[in-house]
Amino acid sequence: MNKADITVLENLVNIPGVPGREERVAAFIRSSLSSTCDCQLDNLGNLIAHIPGKGKRVMVVAHMDEVGFMVQRILPSGFLRVERMGGTSLRALPGSRLSLWTSNGCVAGVAGVLPQHLDNHEPISDFSTIYIDIGSSSAEETRTMGVKPGDVLTWDSPLRSLTGSLISGKALDDRLGCYSLIRLTEIIKPEDLQCDLFLLFSVQEESMLTGGITAANSIEPDVIIGIDGTLSFDTPDLEGKQGDIHLGAGPAVKWMDAIRGKMAAYVPNHALTDRVCEIAQAMHIPLQDEVAVGMSTAITPMVYAGRGARSCALSIPIRYHHTPIEMADLQDVEKTIILLKALLTTVL
Ligand SMILES: [Zn+2]
Repeated sequence: MNKADITVLENLVNIPGVPGREERVAAFIRSSLSSTCDCQLDNLGNLIAHIPGKGKRVMVVAHMDEVGFMVQRILPSGFLRVERMGGTSLRALPGSRLSLWTSNGCVAGVAGVLPQHLDNHEPISDFSTIYIDIGSSSAEETRTMGVKPGDVLTWDSPLRSLTGSLISGKALDDRLGCYSLIRLTEIIKPEDLQCDLFLLFSVQEESMLTGGITAANSIEPDVIIGIDGTLSFDTPDLEGKQGDIHLGAGPAVKWMDAIRGKMAAYVPNHALTDRVCEIAQAMHIPLQDEVAVGMSTAITPMVYAGRGARSCALSIPIRYHHTPIEMADLQDVEKTIILLKALLTTVL
């Protein structure tokens, strides 16, 4: 990955974009896309980039939003109570740094945590005990800083490089997918496409899963390919728990994902998924197998739009999902982009 690509990824990850507030992410992606794309925003904020080609209508999806928080109350003491937007990690919150986005700009904050000396190690189970400290000593001072209920917060955790090709930071889920789609437009020649290609950068995945449905309805794709993160099981606490997916072993091909008890299981098209595996094998791209419980992605409801679509999904393994230190391997991302290009230059 060259320096310009790293800069694009850094910017993508650092821009705030909680569910329903994805405009800045969409504007950045639009400015980064190759001129071969015809871009449109729908009324919900979904960004659709069209690269005309012959054949079936194929839609590749990555979601722009990230988990975060919303200011619920300003306490008389100036501290803030917040509510979660999406499945933000409660365990990772106390002691973390946050960025609070107000109409006056960004305010730095931290999530309060007990000093070790006074900590009797009660489990964190009650979200209402969490408070945000922005250094203000009264509600009036907080309001003077431009803060009001409805303002949103994201993790303050810029992208870092670790050893080898590992990176860590917030919002890798699913800005790595958005990044993959941007890079795809740079390396794919429209004349090589074996489809009429739509890239969908969708909204409101983390809160509803359903934000991209409006775009799917207007595009009416024959085929949907999802690009999102998946759970990685290569840390000492998770090893062997649900699967063997680990960083650096290539993208995962999805066989199923499900949120238990929520009627949100997703099973991709079997023949299409087999075809993805064949193409990957022919290109010597290693694939991992994903059968994930506890998560789903933006394409789950989209396959039911219009006349229905055949679908498949490639997943980028990510450790520490929905925390400020999400971790991924750039080599998995590169392999995802190469495989995606191969899929779109083949008749699916
Ligand atoms: Zn995601």
